[in-house]
Amino acid sequence: MDPRLAGGYITIDLIAIQQNYRTLSEILKNAECAAVVKADAYGLGAQKVAPALAAAGCRKFFVALPEEGIEIRKLLPEIEIFILGGLFEGCENLYVHERLAPVLNSLEEIKIWSKLTQEHGPLPAILHLETGICRLGLSKKDVLELAENPGWMDGIEFDYVMSHLASADMPSSSQNHDQKTQLQRLRNLLPEGLQKTPVSFANSSGIFLGEDFHFDLARPGIALFGGNPTPEKPNPMQATVQWQGKILQVHDVDSEKPVGYGATYRTLEKTRIATVGIGYADGYFRSLGNTAECAINNKRVPVVGRVSMDMIAIDVTSIPEDACKRGDLVNLIGGGITLDELANKAETISYEILTSLGHRCHRRYLEAGI
Ligand SMILES: *Cc1c(COP(=O)(O)O)cnc(C)c1O
Repeated sequence: MDPRLAGGYITIDLIAIQQNYRTLSEILKNAECAAVVKADAYGLGAQKVAPALAAAGCRKFFVALPEEGIEIRKLLPEIEIFILGGLFEGCENLYVHERLAPVLNSLEEIKIWSKLTQEHGPLPAILHLETGICRLGLSKKDVLELAENPGWMDGIEFDYVMSHLASADMPSSSQNHDQKTQLQRLRNLLPEGLQKTPVSFANSSGIFLGEDFHFDLARPGIALFGGNPTPEKPNPMQATVQWQGKILQVHDVDSEKPVGYGATYRTLEKTRIATVGIGYADGYFRSLGNTAECAINNKRVPVVGRVSMDMIAIDVTSIPEDACKRGDLVNLIGGGITLDELANKAETISYEILTSLGHRCHRRYLEAGI
């Protein structure tokens, strides 16, 4: 979109994403680092992000849906693509044709995938064990059944056995250790050939739980994109997103003037208000009204009144007039405002902020060599 026509800019730093990939790879030492690029790479644009990660050395990509896998396959013919949502009904041949490896989440999916190998020869997959999040994967009962019927998985080449942590962002939660113990128990109950299959366990936060959570392949998403995987500590990752809104108008108002829908804010004194061309339709959550701050030249200014669909009001009384004019940009993320700060203020998580970023802002990508 032409920047002159947009209410704001989103700048996505692909170099920082690549740096984050290297940082995680170093922490993982001998374990391999995959990348989770579901939901359009957490809203940042899988078409740009996945090739940048591949250029940084990433060879294994996870998405939620076969549809997302097909889009990435077009760009990256060589890499491995795993579908976290499993084997979707009625499109099994597409997985074979596009070389998408399903994460097999049930005995039923295992049997269907195995049947396809009779026609196509050996096919790759990941076996998902459910260890405590109760979302997807084989239960203990399923594992015991599989152990008695190993023929059900004939022809399937399992690259990994995986499971998923429910509380990895809370390092003191006993659930992390419990899930790891359960994973080991279930592995020991698997058919002989699968007991030594490499393991994938850690998401972003899981990587920071320590080496005994690393196993063979980690599956980070949010940490690659700059969200803090260690919420109780300073963020070890680089910021990857700058979000700016355009000032549409600046006006001086007297004291006691209501601002915005519902008059939820009243000026306390003579105040300068800037109206910015970003609203909840752009992913600036309504819960940020009267709560969040923006930054102009690294100086913080409060959001006053409710967030409208296309606009917010900020109190810029403290900002010199020439630094805050019609057409100037203010930072919604960046200039000292972090993604996690904005998420906390909106009472949500960084993931939801990123995946809600709208498509009305002008998007630009920072890449190596440009
Ligand atoms: C989304 C997801 C991930 C990535 O999680 P982050 O917390 O973003 O690192 C890893 N594994 C599974 C199964 C997921 O659904």
